[in-house]
Amino acid sequence: MKCPYCGEIDNKVIDSRMSKDGNVIRRRRECLVCTRRFTTYEHIEESASFGMTIAEFPTTKVAAIESHKRGMNVLMGAPNLVRGGSHSGNIAAHELAREGVLDILSSDYYPASILHAAFILEGLDNDYDLPKAIRTVTKNPANAAKLNDRGELAVGLRADLVRVNCVEEFPIVQQVWQQGTRVF
Ligand SMILES: [Zn+2]
Repeated sequence: MKCPYCGEIDNKVIDSRMSKDGNVIRRRRECLVCTRRFTTYEHIEESASFGMTIAEFPTTKVAAIESHKRGMNVLMGAPNLVRGGSHSGNIAAHELAREGVLDILSSDYYPASILHAAFILEGLDNDYDLPKAIRTVTKNPANAAKLNDRGELAVGLRADLVRVNCVEEFPIVQQVWQQGTRVF
């Protein structure tokens, strides 16, 4: 969602309104760099009909719930969960977890947060037990990306494994296997 004036992607949502049929979300946004305001329209049903499998960083609870209902995987940043909220004032990942619609945790700039976030997720006030929390960083993203050879411990799949030791809630990697061969 780039700013049409300066091209920056970081912005905050000032106001969100859903159309009556729950299909189009109109958002007023403010660019965090040049502070100009612009409007975006997001079409959930249309995105689902194009075969989209991931709703990346929905900024409101209603958008996340509608996307999840239509079979899209709701993806949120792992750092959002580790920090306890979004750095641009959008919906917090833990609030979506409480609604049961947080499907994938991911991160580009801080990959170490991914595993940490899964363990935090399990300890919060929600219905995510440890297997369900771990699926947000293993099976769910693998399935959404159609990487069907990985994502769970099953006969015939890649044996990519990480053994961790949790100190408090912080997972410390002890051993790593890649396709069945120990590499760490
Ligand atoms: Zn701007």
